Amino acid sequence: MAITAGTFDSLELRGVGRSFGGHQALAGLDLTVRKGEFIALLGPSGCGKSTALNCLAGLLPLTHGEILLDGRRVDTVPSEKRGFGMVFQSYALFPHLSVAKNVAFGLHMRGLPKAEVSRRTAEAIELVKLTEHAAKLPGQLSGGQQQRVAIARAVVLEPSLVLMDEPLSNLDAKLRLDMRTEIRRLHQSLGLTTVYVTHDQEEALSLADRLVVLREGRVQQVGTPDELYDHPSNWHVADFMGYRNILPGTVVATTGGDGLRVGLGATTLTCRPVGDRPADGETVRVAVRPDDLAVVAGGEAPRDGNALEGTVVVVEYHGREFAVVVQAGDGTLLHVRTPEAPRVGDTLTLTAPAERVLVFPAALAGEATAG
Ligand code: ATP
Repeated sequence: MAITAGTFDSLELRGVGRSFGGHQALAGLDLTVRKGEFIALLGPSGCGKSTALNCLAGLLPLTHGEILLDGRRVDTVPSEKRGFGMVFQSYALFPHLSVAKNVAFGLHMRGLPKAEVSRRTAEAIELVKLTEHAAKLPGQLSGGQQQRVAIARAVVLEPSLVLMDEPLSNLDAKLRLDMRTEIRRLHQSLGLTTVYVTHDQEEALSLADRLVVLREGRVQQVGTPDELYDHPSNWHVADFMGYRNILPGTVVATTGGDGLRVGLGATTLTCRPVGDRPADGETVRVAVRPDDLAVVAGGEAPRDGNALEGTVVVVEYHGREFAVVVQAGDGTLLHVRTPEAPRVGDTLTLTAPAERVLVFPAALAGEATAG
């Protein structure tokens, strides 16, 4: 019999919160995780991702809310009795035990017969492609291999839920990509239900079925990668989804159609409001992706009359295109991608079609106002 995932029908977090003294690290997280789903908790450092994961794992008691597994409370169940697997950034392997003994440890603790322990251990080690390293100590392995051991140690217990806290952060860029594919492969082949913490938007988008974007302990948006990528609900989510240009502006006037004219320094742009339409004079955030800004060739009329002028200050080579930073007259930095390299010091006019220039209220969830 091969390694399988433990199972449940639904895992429900209801108003899960955790405070430290007077500081609310996590405020009222509501989330239903479906069987076999891969959920990424995404957000900047200190937003409460690890707190949420540790509450799920039972390493931190909740100060608010409850967690239900198939309708039964689990937040009151001790960590080791929840049947969840954990994979940490630091691997957390026993340094004096071989790979095989690290993987077998949890099975021994459960008092399983020796033959079963050996069989399941060998299967889990094979699953993460470490059979030839089974007798080695963790210190004799690369970072990527050690993380594979940590994953084998979690899945060998056939957990109903696997919790991963930034498991790839200690790996170099190339290994991180390989392990990302490996984690996705294991998730799919074993049908694991996974909750995965990361601050890396690319990692979250490529791995997860749904993302939960957090900021200062509050959920900003929950959705599939394409929902969040195409329809961020506020500027913080847009920022995390690769809208590199988040610019403060003021609504000058509502235009006849769907558009808004927004003042940005010395210029005004026609933009598309997201959510509630802001009033004239309101402070807003304008979000535009580097790919949606284009360099206007001399003599061409900018699209929608949208023109941003500035001086090239950085040019980076990125394979088929260049990442260019343009500084506008008021000091604002604009990030743009272009197929042709300008020179530092060149003056450029940039444009973007109105439907690609999103306008959000300046205030975020949980904030009264933002400047
Ligand atoms: P990172 O990516 O840096 O690990 P995170 O999003 O995982 O950040 P958390 O570790 O969940 O963030 O921390 C959320 C907030 O709670 C932070 O402001 C942090 O300082 C605070 N916090 C976390 N653990 C404790 C603790 N044991 N005691 C006091 N404050 C804590």
